[in-house]
Amino acid sequence: QRFVFDFTEGNKDQRDLLGGKGANLAEMTRIGLPVPPGFTITTEACRAYLADGDVPSTLDEEVAAHLAALEESMGRKFGDAADPLLVSVRSGAKFSMPGMMDTVLNVGLSDRSVDGLAAQSGSERFAQDSYRRLIQMFGKTVLDVPGDPFEEALAEAKTAKGVDDDVDLDAEDLKGVVDSFKAIVLKHTGSDFPQEPAEQLRLAIRAVFSSWQGERAVLYRRTERIPDDIGTAVNIVAMVFGNLGADSGTGVAFTRDPATGEQGVYGDYLPNAQGEDVVAGIRNTVAISELARIDKAGYDELMRSARILEDHYRDLCDIEFTIERGRLWLLQTRVGKRTAAAAFTIAASLVDDGLIDVDTALGRVTGAQLAQLMFPTFGEVGDDTPKVAVGVPASPGAAVGAAVFDAHRAAARAATGAPVILVRKETNPDDLPGMLAAKGILTARGGKTSHAAVVARGMGKTCVCGADTLGVEADRAVVTAADGTETVITEGDIISVDGSTGAVYLGEVAVRPSPVVEYFETGEVPDGDPLIAAVARLMGHADDTRRLGVRANADTGEDAARARRFGAAGIGLCRTEHMFLGERRVLVERLVLASGPDERAPVLDQLLELQRADFGDILRAMDGLPVTIRLLDPPLHEFLPSLEDLAVSVALADERGDDSEEHAREVRLLAAVRRIHEQNPMLGLRGVRLGLTLPGLYDMQVRAIAEAAAALRAEGLDPRPEIMVPLVGDVRELAVIRAQTEQVLAEVEGSGDVPIGTMIEIPRAALTADRIAAEADFFSFGTNDLTQLGWGFSRDDVEGAFFGRYLELGVFPASPFETLDASGVGELVEIAVKRGRETRPGLHLGVCGEHGGDPESVRFLHRAGLDYVSCSPFRVPIARLAAGQAVL
Ligand code: ADP
Ligand code: MG
Ligand code: MG
Repeated sequence: QRFVFDFTEGNKDQRDLLGGKGANLAEMTRIGLPVPPGFTITTEACRAYLADGDVPSTLDEEVAAHLAALEESMGRKFGDAADPLLVSVRSGAKFSMPGMMDTVLNVGLSDRSVDGLAAQSGSERFAQDSYRRLIQMFGKTVLDVPGDPFEEALAEAKTAKGVDDDVDLDAEDLKGVVDSFKAIVLKHTGSDFPQEPAEQLRLAIRAVFSSWQGERAVLYRRTERIPDDIGTAVNIVAMVFGNLGADSGTGVAFTRDPATGEQGVYGDYLPNAQGEDVVAGIRNTVAISELARIDKAGYDELMRSARILEDHYRDLCDIEFTIERGRLWLLQTRVGKRTAAAAFTIAASLVDDGLIDVDTALGRVTGAQLAQLMFPTFGEVGDDTPKVAVGVPASPGAAVGAAVFDAHRAAARAATGAPVILVRKETNPDDLPGMLAAKGILTARGGKTSHAAVVARGMGKTCVCGADTLGVEADRAVVTAADGTETVITEGDIISVDGSTGAVYLGEVAVRPSPVVEYFETGEVPDGDPLIAAVARLMGHADDTRRLGVRANADTGEDAARARRFGAAGIGLCRTEHMFLGERRVLVERLVLASGPDERAPVLDQLLELQRADFGDILRAMDGLPVTIRLLDPPLHEFLPSLEDLAVSVALADERGDDSEEHAREVRLLAAVRRIHEQNPMLGLRGVRLGLTLPGLYDMQVRAIAEAAAALRAEGLDPRPEIMVPLVGDVRELAVIRAQTEQVLAEVEGSGDVPIGTMIEIPRAALTADRIAAEADFFSFGTNDLTQLGWGFSRDDVEGAFFGRYLELGVFPASPFETLDASGVGELVEIAVKRGRETRPGLHLGVCGEHGGDPESVRFLHRAGLDYVSCSPFRVPIARLAAGQAVL
């Protein structure tokens, strides 16, 4: 088995074996770009090293052979005293893990060869600078010497000389630094810095393999969900030198602006420097455009290479390069990271350039990026709103409100209509009321899987967590800046929280609405706005491509109209429970208290009138499009006063000896509330069970729908209601409701043809879908309840309680309420699709859980053969995009 491949042997598709860096170095070599020669030790060798604690027995021999070939092509011997070949030993895994693993430069340099290097290059300073860099990097990464002593020694040398900058140290100074560095190595390891080049190489290779298991790397893989067992490759690259004087330098470049996607090479350059200096921020870099002035030839060559790379990879690339005495060398490239806006702009622009087709462009953006572009952002931040802290950006958006340090006070203040930011050291389930009421959440502790983060993301609420300079007390917070100055935030102070960057400002920062949302609202593409033009183009293509329909969950005429503007082809879930709140609660109370049909009838009549108007509004807004109306689902107690409050009120009145009519009514109500009180209302008297036990309720709703439709039809409109029965577990439940419903529909003249279907949200319904389909014109999967009931946990109780821990443990990769659990709950969906269509081949199938707006779930639902997904109006564009991508 071979473990080593020359750069001339590989290509970009071998990232598994050669790592991303190695595969792309090989690719650049292959297409004739100027890459220093070198070779790659495979990830297989790393995996063997990790498993056995040592490299494969043949590896050192193989490396020696490739090194010999490298010496041949360079015309120099590795570590030669007179004219040494030097190499870098670089990590590089399949997935980019920037700066997380180790790299050592200038390997091969020693006391013997440093003078040879000086003589060959004509620069004693350069040779000493390279040597001190080797000792420092090798010391830190291979020999585990702490970094500080090296930094201190270098700083001392500069102080002694009275200069600020490394480049102002001359050869003699650097020689002194080399001596101090060697002393540091001796002190910390008990041995001299290894002088044998072959020994240096051997140790460096092993150190790079080991760095795969380094703390930083392990942590990074966990947050980025990179598998732990794939290992890293090691690249051995002939050194080229950016630290050879003013006509040399090193830099990074992007083939276009990764922030906006604008065309034109963009990046930073540092004259007379080596490798990591640019990233380390040791000196101020200059813009790439400056390079044109410093070194026109090098600049032109870089532009030419950037063009070639972008044409070749057909995407934005980032590039690490070095200029050695006017000659350009490329040391790394990869398809570059970019912002959400740049992703859209670049994808569309590459289509214009003829580099990719529009299908490919559609695959280059993500639903998450579109979602990001739909959040409001902060505009200009003025001096009067200082940034006081930065935490982890856990849930995006821009929130402004009064800081409140207690959940109950937050809920109370929000109830007065004032915007509130809940600020806590960390949150726990007791904070839920405050979290719900707040515009945003800020915590001092915890990361992206903390309670605050998980819950906020679930609610789509702005959240910054882990702002650890924030000391949260009972009614104020003290922020301690790096220089020790303290800022006090008192309860009620207005703060602004940026969930996309993690920044926290004291004062009110102006919120800018999203231009992408404005586009969805108006359908207008402003002239010369490349981002909106790109969004419009890719959304258009997604719509042309997708098979899945996209509907919205909406229960007011206003929401329905917005959903329509956002591209919804109807309503997949019109909940009716919101229509029973507010002033109408009294009617529900009277319905519950009614002693018989005579008392019930007038209440139902009143409700009928109100519901007719509710449905009329929605059907009008969605004229010509289907509107699936779900008959009342939640348990009745949700519309009644709480048992506790009522019990207290009655007890107090009793004590007073109250004999008013109002008191008598409350006593009766308390008895009724006690009767219907449930320990677990999620599993109790709700959905179809309510329809079957509360006489007249569903009939009233059906009649209201039928009459609303008839009235609109009489106006010449085209209402298309569909009636949906929730929480069915057995076909018999549906059959009874269906018979009643058909009868009511028959009684209302001009109600038209109204399909009657059911939700599939109980596992038993999924399993018996063949029988249920006999009574259903359509199914709509309620994947929220199906998830609750499939897993056996109630959403309200678990998300904050243990989801953070479960995500950490990898029990699930994402909350199953956000992304459909394909292998469990998803299988229930697949079973129901199959069995339902066995009975009724044309059965129309939709999804109305939150998953309808989650890209990964949409892909699954497309494959499962559903006809449409339905989601909140705001996520309709994301579902459209994802549905288009699912086809690719
Ligand atoms: P990372 O993955 O952290 O970017 P790299 O392996 O890319 O680490 O190397 C770190 C720095 O050293 C980069 O700036 C790179 O360009 C530079 N470098 C690596 N190998 C060489 C080489 N053979 N000659 C000159 N510079 C190099
Ligand atoms: Mg790099
Ligand atoms: Mg449900």
